[in-house]
Amino acid sequence: MNFNNISREALLGSATLGLVFITGYYMGKRRPYRMDIFKSHVGAKDNPVMQYILDHSMREHPALKKLRLKTMEHKLNFIMVACEQSQLMANLARLIKSKKAIEIGVYTGYNALSIALALPEDGKVVACDVNEEFTNIGRPFWKEAGVEHKIDLRLQPALKTLDELLAAGEAETFDFVFIDADKLNYDSYYEKSLKLLRKGGIIAIDNVLWSGRVLNPAEDDLDTKAIDKLNKKLHKDVRITLSMLTVGDGLTLAFKL
Ligand code: CA
Repeated sequence: MNFNNISREALLGSATLGLVFITGYYMGKRRPYRMDIFKSHVGAKDNPVMQYILDHSMREHPALKKLRLKTMEHKLNFIMVACEQSQLMANLARLIKSKKAIEIGVYTGYNALSIALALPEDGKVVACDVNEEFTNIGRPFWKEAGVEHKIDLRLQPALKTLDELLAAGEAETFDFVFIDADKLNYDSYYEKSLKLLRKGGIIAIDNVLWSGRVLNPAEDDLDTKAIDKLNKKLHKDVRITLSMLTVGDGLTLAFKL
Protein backbone atom coordinates (compact mmCIF):
# COMPACT_ATOMS: atom_id res chain seq x y z
CA MET A 1 0.00 0.00 0.00
CA ASN A 2 1.50 3.32 -1.02
CA PHE A 3 0.72 6.14 1.39
CA ASN A 4 2.66 8.73 -0.51
CA ASN A 5 0.59 8.62 -3.65
CA ILE A 6 -0.26 12.30 -3.45
CA SER A 7 0.38 15.20 -5.74
CA ARG A 8 3.80 16.81 -5.97
CA GLU A 9 2.23 20.18 -5.17
CA ALA A 10 0.74 18.85 -1.94
CA LEU A 11 4.06 17.30 -0.97
CA LEU A 12 5.92 20.53 -1.67
CA GLY A 13 3.29 22.42 0.33
CA SER A 14 3.74 20.05 3.27
CA ALA A 15 7.53 20.30 3.04
CA THR A 16 7.36 24.10 3.08
CA LEU A 17 4.98 24.01 6.01
CA GLY A 18 7.36 21.61 7.82
CA LEU A 19 10.23 24.02 7.28
CA VAL A 20 8.15 26.87 8.71
CA PHE A 21 7.37 24.77 11.81
CA ILE A 22 10.96 23.76 12.39
CA THR A 23 12.35 27.25 11.77
CA GLY A 24 9.79 28.71 14.17
CA TYR A 25 10.52 26.00 16.73
CA TYR A 26 14.25 26.56 16.82
CA MET A 27 13.90 30.32 16.89
CA GLY A 28 11.70 29.88 19.93
CA LYS A 29 8.83 31.73 18.28
CA ARG A 30 5.15 30.93 18.24
CA ARG A 31 4.47 28.68 15.27
CA PRO A 32 1.66 29.69 12.92
CA TYR A 33 0.39 26.10 12.65
CA ARG A 34 0.69 23.02 14.75
CA MET A 35 3.30 20.39 14.02
CA ASP A 36 1.48 17.23 15.12
CA ILE A 37 4.68 15.44 15.98
CA PHE A 38 3.46 11.83 15.88
CA LYS A 39 1.11 12.24 12.92
CA SER A 40 1.92 10.12 9.84
CA HIS A 41 1.18 12.81 7.24
CA VAL A 42 2.70 15.76 9.13
CA GLY A 43 5.47 15.61 11.75
CA ALA A 44 6.28 11.90 11.30
CA LYS A 45 5.76 11.91 7.54
CA ASP A 46 9.31 10.95 6.58
CA ASN A 47 9.98 8.71 9.55
CA PRO A 48 10.80 5.17 8.32
CA VAL A 49 9.42 3.67 11.53
CA MET A 50 6.10 5.41 10.91
CA GLN A 51 6.16 4.12 7.34
CA TYR A 52 6.70 0.60 8.70
CA ILE A 53 3.75 1.04 11.07
CA LEU A 54 1.50 2.15 8.20
CA ASP A 55 2.69 -0.63 5.89
CA HIS A 56 2.07 -3.28 8.54
CA SER A 57 -1.18 -2.14 10.14
CA MET A 58 -3.36 -0.02 7.89
CA ARG A 59 -6.41 -1.68 6.36
CA GLU A 60 -7.96 1.39 4.84
CA HIS A 61 -11.30 1.08 3.03
CA PRO A 62 -10.82 2.18 -0.64
CA ALA A 63 -13.18 5.16 -0.15
CA LEU A 64 -11.21 6.21 2.95
CA LYS A 65 -7.97 6.08 1.01
CA LYS A 66 -9.46 8.17 -1.80
CA LEU A 67 -10.77 10.74 0.69
CA ARG A 68 -7.38 10.89 2.45
CA LEU A 69 -5.56 11.52 -0.82
CA LYS A 70 -8.17 14.08 -1.85
CA THR A 71 -7.75 15.83 1.52
CA MET A 72 -3.97 15.88 1.06
CA GLU A 73 -4.55 18.26 -1.88
CA HIS A 74 -6.30 20.73 0.44
CA LYS A 75 -4.49 23.70 1.96
CA LEU A 76 -5.32 22.66 5.53
CA ASN A 77 -4.39 19.00 5.05
CA PHE A 78 -2.27 19.02 8.21
CA ILE A 79 -5.42 19.28 10.36
CA MET A 80 -6.80 15.97 9.08
CA VAL A 81 -6.81 13.22 11.66
CA ALA A 82 -3.96 10.77 11.05
CA CYS A 83 -5.17 7.61 9.31
CA GLU A 84 -3.52 5.37 11.93
CA GLN A 85 -5.28 7.29 14.71
CA SER A 86 -8.59 7.05 12.89
CA GLN A 87 -8.18 3.29 12.52
CA LEU A 88 -7.43 2.96 16.26
CA MET A 89 -10.60 4.88 17.14
CA ALA A 90 -12.69 2.80 14.72
CA ASN A 91 -11.32 -0.36 16.35
CA LEU A 92 -12.22 0.98 19.80
CA ALA A 93 -15.71 1.90 18.61
CA ARG A 94 -16.10 -1.62 17.23
CA LEU A 95 -14.69 -3.20 20.41
CA ILE A 96 -17.38 -1.64 22.62
CA LYS A 97 -20.07 -2.47 20.02
CA SER A 98 -20.88 1.16 19.32
CA LYS A 99 -24.12 2.08 17.59
CA LYS A 100 -24.24 5.81 18.26
CA ALA A 101 -21.26 8.15 17.88
CA ILE A 102 -20.60 11.88 17.86
CA GLU A 103 -17.87 13.65 15.95
CA ILE A 104 -17.11 17.22 17.07
CA GLY A 105 -15.06 18.83 14.28
CA VAL A 106 -15.44 17.06 10.95
CA TYR A 107 -13.16 18.89 8.45
CA THR A 108 -13.41 16.75 5.26
CA GLY A 109 -15.03 13.84 7.07
CA TYR A 110 -12.28 11.23 6.99
CA ASN A 111 -12.88 10.15 10.57
CA ALA A 112 -16.67 10.41 10.31
CA LEU A 113 -16.44 7.95 7.41
CA SER A 114 -14.05 5.71 9.32
CA ILE A 115 -16.38 5.54 12.34
CA ALA A 116 -19.47 5.10 10.15
CA LEU A 117 -17.82 2.06 8.54
CA ALA A 118 -17.26 0.59 12.03
CA LEU A 119 -20.91 0.97 13.06
CA PRO A 120 -23.67 -1.52 12.33
CA GLU A 121 -26.14 -0.86 9.50
CA ASP A 122 -28.52 0.97 11.86
CA GLY A 123 -25.71 2.91 13.53
CA LYS A 124 -25.42 6.71 13.49
CA VAL A 125 -22.67 9.33 13.65
CA VAL A 126 -23.84 12.79 14.59
CA ALA A 127 -21.20 14.86 12.79
CA CYS A 128 -20.83 18.44 14.04
CA ASP A 129 -19.17 21.19 12.04
CA VAL A 130 -19.77 24.73 10.81
CA ASN A 131 -17.89 24.59 7.50
CA GLU A 132 -19.95 23.18 4.65
CA GLU A 133 -17.18 23.81 2.11
CA PHE A 134 -14.94 21.32 3.91
CA THR A 135 -17.59 18.70 4.68
CA ASN A 136 -18.68 18.80 1.02
CA ILE A 137 -15.25 17.42 0.11
CA GLY A 138 -16.05 14.25 2.04
CA ARG A 139 -19.68 13.68 1.13
CA PRO A 140 -19.09 11.90 -2.23
CA PHE A 141 -16.81 9.42 -0.46
CA TRP A 142 -19.37 8.75 2.30
CA LYS A 143 -21.78 7.90 -0.50
CA GLU A 144 -19.25 5.78 -2.39
CA ALA A 145 -18.63 3.74 0.78
CA GLY A 146 -22.38 3.18 1.15
CA VAL A 147 -22.59 4.72 4.63
CA GLU A 148 -23.92 8.20 3.89
CA HIS A 149 -27.18 7.25 5.65
CA LYS A 150 -25.25 6.66 8.89
CA ILE A 151 -23.74 10.17 8.96
CA ASP A 152 -26.06 12.82 10.37
CA LEU A 153 -24.22 16.05 9.53
CA ARG A 154 -25.31 19.05 11.60
CA LEU A 155 -23.94 22.30 10.19
CA GLN A 156 -24.15 24.60 13.20
CA PRO A 157 -22.08 25.22 16.34
CA ALA A 158 -21.40 21.86 18.00
CA LEU A 159 -22.48 23.10 21.45
CA LYS A 160 -25.94 23.79 20.00
CA THR A 161 -26.13 20.28 18.56
CA LEU A 162 -25.01 18.71 21.84
CA ASP A 163 -27.64 20.74 23.73
CA GLU A 164 -30.29 19.63 21.24
CA LEU A 165 -29.33 15.99 21.74
CA LEU A 166 -29.59 16.43 25.52
CA ALA A 167 -32.94 18.22 25.17
CA ALA A 168 -34.17 15.36 22.96
CA GLY A 169 -33.58 12.94 25.86
CA GLU A 170 -30.50 11.28 24.36
CA ALA A 171 -28.36 11.52 27.52
CA GLU A 172 -26.42 8.32 28.29
CA THR A 173 -27.23 6.80 24.88
CA PHE A 174 -24.02 7.43 22.93
CA ASP A 175 -21.14 4.97 22.81
CA PHE A 176 -18.28 6.96 21.30
CA VAL A 177 -17.39 10.65 20.98
CA PHE A 178 -14.43 12.25 19.19
CA ILE A 179 -13.61 15.82 20.23
CA ASP A 180 -11.46 17.63 17.65
CA ALA A 181 -12.71 21.21 17.23
CA ASP A 182 -11.93 24.69 18.62
CA LYS A 183 -9.83 24.32 21.75
CA LEU A 184 -11.44 27.08 23.85
CA ASN A 185 -14.65 25.02 23.96
CA TYR A 186 -12.92 21.71 24.73
CA ASP A 187 -14.10 21.66 28.35
CA SER A 188 -17.73 22.35 27.37
CA TYR A 189 -17.57 19.71 24.64
CA TYR A 190 -16.22 17.25 27.18
CA GLU A 191 -18.86 17.97 29.83
CA LYS A 192 -21.77 17.73 27.41
CA SER A 193 -20.31 14.64 25.76
CA LEU A 194 -19.91 12.95 29.13
CA LYS A 195 -23.62 13.50 29.77
CA LEU A 196 -24.52 12.04 26.37
CA LEU A 197 -22.24 9.02 26.84
CA ARG A 198 -23.40 5.72 28.34
CA LYS A 199 -21.38 4.00 31.05
CA GLY A 200 -18.48 2.15 29.40
CA GLY A 201 -18.52 4.59 26.49
CA ILE A 202 -15.39 6.34 25.24
CA ILE A 203 -14.54 9.99 24.63
CA ALA A 204 -11.45 10.44 22.44
CA ILE A 205 -9.89 13.92 22.66
CA ASP A 206 -7.49 15.10 19.98
CA ASN A 207 -4.47 17.46 20.12
CA VAL A 208 -3.92 17.02 23.86
CA LEU A 209 -0.16 17.61 23.41
CA TRP A 210 -0.61 20.52 20.95
CA SER A 211 2.87 20.04 19.47
CA GLY A 212 4.32 19.94 22.97
CA ARG A 213 3.17 23.47 23.81
CA VAL A 214 1.22 22.15 26.81
CA LEU A 215 4.58 21.83 28.60
CA ASN A 216 4.94 25.57 28.84
CA PRO A 217 1.94 27.57 27.60
CA ALA A 218 2.70 31.19 26.68
CA GLU A 219 0.76 33.72 28.73
CA ASP A 220 -1.39 34.82 25.78
CA ASP A 221 -1.81 31.34 24.26
CA LEU A 222 -5.39 30.66 25.28
CA ASP A 223 -5.77 27.51 23.15
CA THR A 224 -2.81 25.81 24.80
CA LYS A 225 -3.98 26.91 28.24
CA ALA A 226 -7.46 25.48 27.59
CA ILE A 227 -6.00 22.12 26.53
CA ASP A 228 -3.59 22.00 29.49
CA LYS A 229 -6.40 22.88 31.90
CA LEU A 230 -8.60 20.09 30.57
CA ASN A 231 -5.67 17.62 30.68
CA LYS A 232 -5.14 18.46 34.37
CA LYS A 233 -8.85 18.16 35.09
CA LEU A 234 -9.18 14.77 33.37
CA HIS A 235 -6.22 13.39 35.31
CA LYS A 236 -8.23 13.86 38.52
CA ASP A 237 -11.72 13.22 37.11
CA VAL A 238 -13.28 10.35 39.09
CA ARG A 239 -16.09 9.95 36.54
CA ILE A 240 -13.67 8.34 34.08
CA THR A 241 -10.52 6.27 33.71
CA LEU A 242 -8.09 7.45 31.07
CA SER A 243 -5.05 6.99 28.88
CA MET A 244 -3.05 9.70 27.15
CA LEU A 245 -1.42 8.36 24.00
CA THR A 246 1.44 9.59 21.81
CA VAL A 247 -0.63 9.15 18.68
CA GLY A 248 -1.03 12.04 16.23
CA ASP A 249 -0.80 15.26 18.22
CA GLY A 250 -1.61 13.44 21.46
CA LEU A 251 -4.84 11.54 22.04
CA THR A 252 -6.61 11.11 25.36
CA LEU A 253 -9.06 8.27 25.75
CA ALA A 254 -11.57 8.76 28.57
CA PHE A 255 -13.64 5.73 29.57
CA LYS A 256 -16.85 6.59 31.40
CA LEU A 257 -17.33 4.75 34.69
CA1 CA B 1 -7.02 17.62 15.46
